[in-house]
Amino acid sequence: MNNLGGASQLRVTNYNQILPIIEIYPCLQGEGSRRGHPCFAIRTTGCTHRCYFGEQGDWCDTWYSSIHAQKGKFSFYDIIQMIESSPNIKEIMFTGGAPTMHPAIINEIMHLAYQRNFFLTLETEGSHFIKTEHPIHLISLSPKFNNSIPKLGILTPKGKKVDQKFIDQHNKYRLNLYAMRQMIDYHQDYQLKPVCDGSHENIQEINSLIAELNIPRSKVYLMPAGRTRKEIIKAYPKIIELALKEGFKFTGRDHIIAFDDKIGV
Ligand code: SF4
Repeated sequence: MNNLGGASQLRVTNYNQILPIIEIYPCLQGEGSRRGHPCFAIRTTGCTHRCYFGEQGDWCDTWYSSIHAQKGKFSFYDIIQMIESSPNIKEIMFTGGAPTMHPAIINEIMHLAYQRNFFLTLETEGSHFIKTEHPIHLISLSPKFNNSIPKLGILTPKGKKVDQKFIDQHNKYRLNLYAMRQMIDYHQDYQLKPVCDGSHENIQEINSLIAELNIPRSKVYLMPAGRTRKEIIKAYPKIIELALKEGFKFTGRDHIIAFDDKIGV
């Protein structure tokens, strides 16, 4: 597995250059331990995975940053302008796609957060370890389990037929336990936020992962699968019941409940 641990040496040197960032906007964090906090969302493009969550969850809810990755649109200067235009917001959510594909940008964002006293959450599927010069406040790990593997022959959101190569790419960096352990050990805090489809197999996989990584149940936020409001609401009761049974926390997905599958909210 790749180890991008030298990231602390990397910086963004040209603040006017367009980076692989496709969305920047203020929002309320909709998931996990920072749920309800106002923050700036910054979304990178490109992903190591190609998640498909079956009938319960459909394709990755941000497929335009992963399966059909758009080109970057924003510079670091655009990020600074956004931050300065809403001075009451003191939190950043850095998400993707797979943000750990862009270690220099993460390091630069963490520098910005450190200098301006912002709280930074890095959302990652856990493919790679990133070592920033200043450890990140919260690593939000959403490892992808067997329920994320695309099925042979189905069509992607833009109509591409899934072949074995597509599936192999999805599995290449999936469940990199070593990288996840390094992320947990190096950075300030973490949470585990698995997408749960409610199946027995999925719960078993989550339990074996937390046993292998020695993660306490209090750090786990079970999250319903779904791309639309209808799918999420349908999934809630079962995932809430499972969280209670297993002694995990539950997280809703407020942005989907509020805005359905609208982008940039
Ligand atoms: S890892 Fe996340 S961003 Fe990448 S395809 Fe899966 S759900 Fe989408």
